[in-house]
Amino acid sequence: MLQQTQVKTVLPRYQQWFQLFPSIEHLAAASLDDVLKAWEGLGYYRRARFIHAAAQQIVVKHNGKFPEQFDDILNLPGIGQSTAGAIASFCFGMNTPVLDGNVKRVLKRWHNQHEATDKQLWSLAQAAIDTSKKPAMWNQSMMELGATLCQSHTAQCNQCPVSKHCKSAFSNIEKKSLSKKQIPVKDVFWQVNLHTHPDKGTWLQQRPEKGIWAGLWTPPIIELSKKPDYAPCHIHLLTHRRIHLYSNPLSSSPPTDGLWVQQLSQLALPTGIHRLFEKNPIKIPSS
Ligand code: SF4
Repeated sequence: MLQQTQVKTVLPRYQQWFQLFPSIEHLAAASLDDVLKAWEGLGYYRRARFIHAAAQQIVVKHNGKFPEQFDDILNLPGIGQSTAGAIASFCFGMNTPVLDGNVKRVLKRWHNQHEATDKQLWSLAQAAIDTSKKPAMWNQSMMELGATLCQSHTAQCNQCPVSKHCKSAFSNIEKKSLSKKQIPVKDVFWQVNLHTHPDKGTWLQQRPEKGIWAGLWTPPIIELSKKPDYAPCHIHLLTHRRIHLYSNPLSSSPPTDGLWVQQLSQLALPTGIHRLFEKNPIKIPSS
């Protein structure tokens, strides 16, 4: 949950999650729709799909017990080398480095190797943790240093407890960091077709398994080739997309795929669609 989401947002959701899915078996047995519903509003829904798939793999391959071998942890869906390193060091005391964005930055500065490749950084991280004798504490310290004093745009070297060992301490870090290229945000224009029925509710379709809002439920959406000449009902921001949503109430029959939903809270809808409904409440025609 903490990948890309702040601690204060995660904390209450983390507790709710364990009320819904108190064990790996409960999670593995839940439907994907229920898991996505529990994740609603946290964004980056791939994480929910991965957790669900990982729980199922743990039940099938490891009898419901979280694996303790590094390669088995790494084989779980959604767990890469760095996350596997965190789990193995925190939970099982292994000498396995974490190499997230924060740790990479600290290592590059520490060694004054600002152009180091990932392969070189893994090698530096492994060498450091091998001599640390306390892998869990080492990994957490590196992550914390990168998240607090040694941030991308500023380095507070005067407060840093390890500045005397760092080859970039008190150098001109801000200018180097600010030259990093920004990934552009793309605008997309989506027409949201609202089919409503006095008895049946609202017609929703499940989004494809890949792409934006994968697996979530929305009214039928049509991507427009150009920006309409009227204002959208809502603009929803994703990391690299700005989705302009235009609501389009229709009295025609809905498309064949999808279902009528009386209570929108029954299914997992993207936050952008919830906002659209809040700003433009659905008007159900009277029978
Ligand atoms: S001395 Fe400065 S650049 Fe080096 S690790 Fe500490 S905060 Fe980062």
